[in-house]
Formats: sequence, structure tokens, C-alpha cells
Amino acid sequence: MPIPLKIYITPFAEKGVAEPSKWSADTAKKALDVVNKIWAPAKITFVISESLSDKPLDMAKSARNNDQRVLDVLSLRHAPDNAVHVYLVNPITNLTAGGGSYLHSDPEPASFVQWYGNDFANGRAWAHELGHLMSVDHVDVDYSNEKQAAQLNKNLMTKGLSVGSDLTSGQISTAKGSKLVKRFGG
Ligand SMILES: [Zn+2]
Repeated sequence: MPIPLKIYITPFAEKGVAEPSKWSADTAKKALDVVNKIWAPAKITFVISESLSDKPLDMAKSARNNDQRVLDVLSLRHAPDNAVHVYLVNPITNLTAGGGSYLHSDPEPASFVQWYGNDFANGRAWAHELGHLMSVDHVDVDYSNEKQAAQLNKNLMTKGLSVGSDLTSGQISTAKGSKLVKRFGG
């Protein structure tokens, strides 16, 4: 059974001036196709159960550089319900992470994902955040070990900006055993 995602397309605003949203229901669907390709080796699929256009979030640009704070502010706008909440936001130039998530779906399964301008990059960032909701942590790349670094650089769960989308068998079993997947049957 696919895991349902409730998505909120949330534009930012600053001092009452809204920035037009880069995301649309259509680009969200295309990015989700990439997400499902990335998670296919784990036989975990996601589906958009609801797509909502949220009212702009007024937040100073300088305050957006902390992923935890952005996620807290976004998730406070909607009471936790039974759904996984995914906030699709415009690019945040002063944030190195592609998004943010409550690790291990704790306290609630919620993530935000930045817009990167193309389906693959958008979907890759989204798939990474869903990895966190499924209890998969970052991989640490040891750059002094060239061979290992080259391999891990292609991994989905590399920290920061990356293009990797590989999953290890360990990551697949962690995801499959996670609270989120168990709840929805993956
Ligand atoms: Zn991460």
C-alpha cells in the first residue's frame, strides 16, 4: 500500500510581500515520480493524497537559514493528524540542507523540501527527507578514504547538497522497519 502524503505548497513572504511559489501540483507530481524511483529498491511507494496551496509564510530571509526552525514554524500551522505532512517551499539561498524533517517521524511525520528547479533535484531532495522520516540517518563520508568516499557520494543520505540517490541494503532494511512504513504498510 503506498504511503499517503499530504502536501502543502507554501510560498514565503517577507513583511507582507508574498514570493510567487515555484512549486505547483504538477511539478510536485513529477518530483514524486522521482521519489518513487529512488525508493523502488525498497519496494516503498508514496502517493499524494491531498495537494493544498497554503497561505504564504511570512518569515524574514535571514531567519530561514535554520532548517529546524523553518520546519517548526511550518508544522505549527497545521495540527498533527494522521497524515504525513510535506511542505514544498521556494529555494532558501542561505540554507545548505535540501530541506528538513523530524527524524524518525518524531514528534510527527513532517518534512519540508526546497525547490531546486528540476524534477530530479526536487525529487532527490524529497526522497532524502522521506528517508529521515523512515529513520534513515545521514551517511558520513570519510574523504580521506577515496574509495569509500566515491561510493558514499552517490548515496541518497549524504548530508547537504548532493546528487546521489543510491540506497544501501542497511538503509533499505531500516526504512522497511520504521514506524512510518509499519503504520502504512509501505
Ligand atoms: Zn538530511
